[in-house]
Amino acid sequence: PGGEYRTDAVIVGAGPVGLFAVFELGLLDIKAHLIDVLEVPGGQCAELYPEKPIYDIPALPVVTGQELTDRLMQQIAPFDPVFHLGQTAEAIAKTDEGRWRVTTSAGTVVDARVIVIAAGGGSFTPKKPALEGIEAYEGTSVFYAVRKMDAFRGKRLVIAGGGDSALDWALNLKDVAERVTLVHHRDGFRAAPDSVNKMRSAVAAGEMDLKIAKLQSLEGAAPQLTGVGVASKETGDETIPADAMLAFYGLTMKLGPVANFGLNLHENLIPVDTEKFETSEPSIFAVGDINWYPGKLKLILSGFHETALMAQAAFRYVYPDAKLRFQYTTSSTNLQQKLGVA
Ligand code: FAD
Repeated sequence: PGGEYRTDAVIVGAGPVGLFAVFELGLLDIKAHLIDVLEVPGGQCAELYPEKPIYDIPALPVVTGQELTDRLMQQIAPFDPVFHLGQTAEAIAKTDEGRWRVTTSAGTVVDARVIVIAAGGGSFTPKKPALEGIEAYEGTSVFYAVRKMDAFRGKRLVIAGGGDSALDWALNLKDVAERVTLVHHRDGFRAAPDSVNKMRSAVAAGEMDLKIAKLQSLEGAAPQLTGVGVASKETGDETIPADAMLAFYGLTMKLGPVANFGLNLHENLIPVDTEKFETSEPSIFAVGDINWYPGKLKLILSGFHETALMAQAAFRYVYPDAKLRFQYTTSSTNLQQKLGVA
């Protein structure tokens, strides 16, 4: 994270449409960087339904969300896209040169001639436990992601949740933290069976604790936690001593900072024209689920189409003096060289 970069196009959102935008831009010699708050590319396909089959991708009769993401990554590899993952595109500003600077939550700055917003249903944001005053502890002793395992070294740690993230981190951090207590409201887990078995063995071996209880309160003067109050049907109320809590309650999508980019919005979507997929701000484009125009369908295939037209328009900004020739990948040696197949 961090650092300053200069490129042709910066794509906000690495969902399927943001990924395919790299391909369409790349064919026109437009280099791209992508920013996504998720740690992995793929957007909704990777985060919400990696194992579900999709049946309406042209020429792929069936493909899972993760397979589609993997194939897109393979298809765009010749264009060497640069990914800035695990960070939110927070703000945009125009430069004196008529370019754009996009700043992320991790302090990364990407200077680019065009911005392509492929923010889909919005930025994935952690769901928070409904605990009074939780905001005051966030970032100091309450977290929704692990940036560095070492930050929890020697600490008494409560991990809340019953899915894959909660179990994986409980298993990974039990050897780093002083003590890990996994808290889940019921004795059933949505995680991979193998992780559940490993967690149960670790509890049986006394390497970590499992508490079937509801989170009730945070103890200690904010921002420093000293304990987590829980309520259990069997054992009643108690406070688990803790220096930090990690909560993994899943993610929801919220429009997020894109709302503050100064673009016209229509019910939290970005209106575009259907010739260039450009927003109210020249040289800022919007493709995929985030955009709106009459007849819009939130389908992956529509987003793919939109990126092809967007790239043609982006070319005029990146290469104002060049002539744009329409070419087929089947017959153009020039395009095939870019793809590394000629
Ligand atoms: P997304 O996939 O939403 O990706 C957008 C990305 O942008 C996200 O990763 C988000 O974190 C990121 N982002 C947003 N704002 C910021 C910011 N400020 N900073 C950093 N990152 C940001 N479609 C079909 O065509 N066929 C199907 O069969 C189908 N089945 C589906 C099944 C389910 C269960 C769901 C939930 C959706 C399905 N869809 C299907 C819809 C399809 O997944 C979406 O149309 C598609 O994901 C849209 O792609 P996108 O790239 O526009 O946005």
